[in-house]
Amino acid sequence: MYTAENNHIRISLRGLVAKPQRVAHKIGNFLDFFDLVIMSKDDSIARAFERANFVVNGHNGELPRLRLVFQYEILSILLQTCTGVLGCCLSLIMSSAIELYNIDRWGSGYFSINAKGNVGILPTQNPAATIDIMEVIEDARDRGLTFPLVLRFQDLLQHRVETIHLAFQSAIGEFGYKNNYRGVFPVKVNQLREVVEEIVEAGRLYHLGVEAGSKPELLAALALYSDPESLIICNGYKDGQYIRSALLGNKLGSRVIMVVEKLEELHQILRLSKEMNVEPMIGVRVRLQSKGSGKWATSGGENAKFGLSTADLVKASEILRREGLAHCLKLVHFHVGSQVPDIGTIKRAVREAARFYSKLAKLGHELGYLDVGGGLGVDYDGSNTAFDSSMNYTLQEYARDVVYNIMDVCDSEEIPHPIIVSESGRALVAHHSVLVVEAFSSIEKYDRTAPVATVQPGDHKLVQDMWDIEKNLTVANRTEMLHDAQEITAQTLSMFNFGLMDLESKAKIEQAYWRIAGRIVEIFHTETDEDYLPDEVKELQIALGDQYVCNFSVFQSLLDHWALGQLFPVMPIHRLNEPPDRHATLVDITCDSDGKVSKFIDLQDVKETLPLHTLRPGEPYYIGFFLMGAYQDIMGDLHNLFGRVNEAHVFLDEDEDDGFYIEETIEGSTIAEVLTMTQWNESDLIRRFKKQVDTAIKSDRLKPNEGMKLLTTYERSLKHYTYLQIHNGNAHNGNI
Ligand code: PLP
Repeated sequence: MYTAENNHIRISLRGLVAKPQRVAHKIGNFLDFFDLVIMSKDDSIARAFERANFVVNGHNGELPRLRLVFQYEILSILLQTCTGVLGCCLSLIMSSAIELYNIDRWGSGYFSINAKGNVGILPTQNPAATIDIMEVIEDARDRGLTFPLVLRFQDLLQHRVETIHLAFQSAIGEFGYKNNYRGVFPVKVNQLREVVEEIVEAGRLYHLGVEAGSKPELLAALALYSDPESLIICNGYKDGQYIRSALLGNKLGSRVIMVVEKLEELHQILRLSKEMNVEPMIGVRVRLQSKGSGKWATSGGENAKFGLSTADLVKASEILRREGLAHCLKLVHFHVGSQVPDIGTIKRAVREAARFYSKLAKLGHELGYLDVGGGLGVDYDGSNTAFDSSMNYTLQEYARDVVYNIMDVCDSEEIPHPIIVSESGRALVAHHSVLVVEAFSSIEKYDRTAPVATVQPGDHKLVQDMWDIEKNLTVANRTEMLHDAQEITAQTLSMFNFGLMDLESKAKIEQAYWRIAGRIVEIFHTETDEDYLPDEVKELQIALGDQYVCNFSVFQSLLDHWALGQLFPVMPIHRLNEPPDRHATLVDITCDSDGKVSKFIDLQDVKETLPLHTLRPGEPYYIGFFLMGAYQDIMGDLHNLFGRVNEAHVFLDEDEDDGFYIEETIEGSTIAEVLTMTQWNESDLIRRFKKQVDTAIKSDRLKPNEGMKLLTTYERSLKHYTYLQIHNGNAHNGNI
């Protein structure tokens, strides 16, 4: 993987990508090199060049002279003056961090690492308008916001609206499709007013509409929309009130289309529209045979809970024609589920739905819209595969396949091309928000800073045996020593259970075992040239992982991870110019063993631990959860009564020194608010507490002054944020 000779280091690009930490470690040990030789055998020169450019551009300090030599072509890039090797290492470590956390792949051009080693946000994918996430955090902190904190990048939302629209426009142009595209935003994906308003504003030019799935969502949409060109699509089961509200919209001139989910709804729609004297706009959700794929696959297929069967569709058509309202059927809709990972699913479903559309059109309905629902995925792990948390297609491919297949079917049926509607919510909002949490403590297997214990005369025989292993461990005998140490650990457990070993001996053996295990894993990573890590060493590495305690609730902020095992990109948002030296899982502050994150994205598979940096006393350590804008924001529950988290809404502004400003902050739930949600009444709680204080004063257990102070403290506590107060990296000891 690497060789060092005559003042230069040779590193294979493959090795650098696969094991950046190991390379960084090597370079750290070899401080007098002059040329960094990157051999590119199987990676493209362009990619290596990109890397070199990153090294040049991504560093604002002085750089050593760096010559990049490729194995077949030799390209020399002389970088500024040679002032030493450390700057070069720094750049290399940062480019390694990009590889390590895979940012280039899941980030879709919206995220990077800047010269300070902080995550940079590029809300419009333009490197000239990059926001340093740590500067946003500082600004938010100055405004009194504490963690956990959701950061919303509003310009990114606008960019997503444009990008999705333009993808369809481009496909329409490419194929000569003879109609338009109209997007609708499914409000259920993120109902926050500021998010919906931003999307509506950004989509005005494209007549972007909304999809409502319930009465509250519809009432919000009706108030928001006045553009007669954009659609309000009403999905979900409907009662009389829901239908009346939709018809109200039609009366006002809005294009509200009620999608019939089951036949009885049609009768009710027709009855109420007559009663209100307004002509309804009707859609039908078809129950496709094409099955979905991914975690939300059951939304489609024959057993889906929504949609009309072919027999129901025929009946619906007959009813409408009988009533003289055949022209009111405007739209055919389907939805195969959210986050469809495989493009094949989309193609099949689109073709089947286009066939339904065509046949209904031929029965004499004027139709006009074919609504392909949601499903457009987000590549959360960046692997570009049909894995559940990924997608094996691009946005452009999706748009092309939707447009082409609708066109192909309609042409073969000789019916006019419909307006294409899509209900992509996830792909629109996922990227715009980042959840930042603070890790304030770590639970470790052994104390890395403690001096190695020596064997004392009279120590238990197994203590001595373990110590011998530690003393004699070498690169050559590493595997044998691992097996011996495991055997001693098993014997220790038996002896302890039989009452034949004291606590101190057991503690010594356990600590020595973990030290040996740590050393063995290190040997495999840094002192062997093998790229292969045996399974037992992988398991050891996972077992050695620390647990970083983070101030947040998985049940509030990461529900799909807990409930469905969905993966999100997670990484530190600063110190990325230091190689991470720990592997850890994340645990939250709820009293629930499920409140943890122990599965992380990986290109090949799923990782069990995340590379992190050692916590420094008195210094905060921030971890970002990315691509959080879809569903997670609004699905959180109140487990342990941790409520909504603080938020800051960030806008790009080139007139500002830091290139951004925080337009709005929204404070998370207070303790009183979450208690109210579970039927506790604030004044009643205060009254009951006061009664106890009064009794204590009366019985001389408290002085009146003390009692009043206690009561004030209690009242103030109810106004506090529900999450921990962390100060200088430590859980605050309660100055309330
Ligand atoms: N439309 C309907 C009817 C849905 O049920 C959903 C969500 O499942 C969506 C659209 C949003 O889909 P996505 O999450 O793929 O954007």
